[in-house]
Amino acid sequence: MQTIDKKKAATLIEQAETITFLTGAGVSTASGVHDYRSLSGLYQGVEQPEYLLSHSCMIEEPEKFYSFIQTLYHPKAKPNMIHLKMAELGRIKDTWVISQNIDGLHAAAGTKHLVNFHGDLYDCYCRKCGQNVSAKTYLLSDCHDRCGGQIRPNIVLYEEGLEERAIELSIEAVAEADLVVIVGTTFQVHPFCDLIHYAANTAKILVINQTAIQLNRDAYFFKQDAASVFETIL
Ligand SMILES: [Zn+2]
Repeated sequence: MQTIDKKKAATLIEQAETITFLTGAGVSTASGVHDYRSLSGLYQGVEQPEYLLSHSCMIEEPEKFYSFIQTLYHPKAKPNMIHLKMAELGRIKDTWVISQNIDGLHAAAGTKHLVNFHGDLYDCYCRKCGQNVSAKTYLLSDCHDRCGGQIRPNIVLYEEGLEERAIELSIEAVAEADLVVIVGTTFQVHPFCDLIHYAANTAKILVINQTAIQLNRDAYFFKQDAASVFETIL
């Protein structure tokens, strides 16, 4: 990876015609939302997070599942500069955001072309009757008052597969971009990190992250917090 400065990173974004952002937890830390996968985040001191966020736990120990999932909600969190600038770019050029985050902040910022690769905590439904339920209602009770069914968030739990449509849209968005920007992620979770293989040979790749990531193709690398780049663009 070729390390570049903030000005060059901003120029690459400004000059691209078709941009696809691949985002991770790092874009939400400034909104006070922790990385639910990182050890320094919520998982610290919590036993068996993979189990607590699994399909089995939801079915077999629904109370345990519900009490853990509630800790992932930050209803007062607001989109930060990074979410807002990505949404703004979407209004002036062909822009897609593919996010690993389940915090709903890209949607809250107004991003139209968005794929929540692992789902969205704020998109909830009843497992029994299928009706959509607001996250506000879910946070009061996981029991659907209409039918007594269990309410769940539409996120991809451990043991569950990704939505076919999310994968297809993401592949298409990466393949069509002339600039793919990987932001705020160590890019290690499969199959999210495999999306980069669909980038065109002519596409430029820009990585904005606090640590280097493994990529098997050429990329520009801006080693810093993403907010500093986004505050300079537009
Ligand atoms: Zn129901």
